[in-house]
Amino acid sequence: MPRMGEHGRTSCRSSRRQPYPAGRSCTPSYPVVIQEIQELTRHIAQQGIPEEPFLANDFICGVLRYTTFAKRDEPRDAMNAITTLDDNWMGQPKSIGAALLESDGHRAIVDPGPGSTLETLRKELRAHGASVNELDAILLTHIHLDHAGATGALVHENPRLAVYVHKLGAPHMIDPSKLLASAARLWPDNLHELFGEMVPVPAQNLRILEGGETITLGARKIAVAYTPGHASHHVSYFENLEGTAFVGDTTGIRIEGHSFVMPATPPPDIDLELWAGSFASILERQPRRLFLTHFGFSENPAAHLAQFRDRLHRWMAMTEKILASASSDEAAMASFMNTARAEVAEHLPADDVEQYIRTAGLNLSFLGLARHARKRTQAAS
Ligand SMILES: [Zn+2]
Repeated sequence: MPRMGEHGRTSCRSSRRQPYPAGRSCTPSYPVVIQEIQELTRHIAQQGIPEEPFLANDFICGVLRYTTFAKRDEPRDAMNAITTLDDNWMGQPKSIGAALLESDGHRAIVDPGPGSTLETLRKELRAHGASVNELDAILLTHIHLDHAGATGALVHENPRLAVYVHKLGAPHMIDPSKLLASAARLWPDNLHELFGEMVPVPAQNLRILEGGETITLGARKIAVAYTPGHASHHVSYFENLEGTAFVGDTTGIRIEGHSFVMPATPPPDIDLELWAGSFASILERQPRRLFLTHFGFSENPAAHLAQFRDRLHRWMAMTEKILASASSDEAAMASFMNTARAEVAEHLPADDVEQYIRTAGLNLSFLGLARHARKRTQAAS
């Protein structure tokens, strides 16, 4: 049996320190390295291997991860890795990425992706020495098809998979008919081509989250936080060994290798007031890096969130202004898309502009913001 389990509503506060102490250099000089190795050796001799490699700086932590902690017959990187699996959605690399978490022989996937990329996911797993049957868990940030669509098919292939999902998303994993009907309104022409099948998940495989839980995966502890805003049932996962936060779509779209961060705000749940609380929850946990489904790692969470929050609020204000003066919904959407596209093009080369716009679904972002704007107006009147 896998040692995957929930520890109830354990408080996460005690483990919410940074993985490495603030103010320590990441590029230590040679004498500092020697001194820290000596300190660490003394600590291990007196008290054993620390639960987290918090005693030393990044360099030492790296050394520890790959040497001291490893059993001789197993390379540490294979035992305790976080790997991006590129779903190569619609033949486009770096559009949708799943994360493979490994720890002491236990494996979980964060957001496997849509049903249409299942075969690519299997190949990616094989390329990293794993298979669907060796997975213990799927951690869903939210149930949108581009994140969770493949889940049911994976569970049918491996019935011992535990699927972690927020309580508001869980009913739609058991019966995806409403979710699929609402997706069909957004993509009336090519839903199946884009996202493939979404197979129901048996209720007994679901592990229902509210936020505040801690999940154990081998040596890793993964704290769960409720992070609505993009979706009412969105959660984020905070892994303790490397300080990685798996934030789904809570911090927008930023394709690895670029610094530009773009909102993705599809209907029906967009809510900027709730979203503000989610930004606070993420920053409070001081992650060392973010993992975004679209796409990959972002190494400076505070700067990333500041840029994202600023653009999200500006695009919201732009939507409200356009809606106040546009002659029709179609004209409003066209105006929004022209202005947003011009802003993206100021920051990125032409090919990347198109990839961002396709991945984020810019037309849907307008619809989500417009819906939120109308709700705000109704609430105020
Ligand atoms: Zn997404």
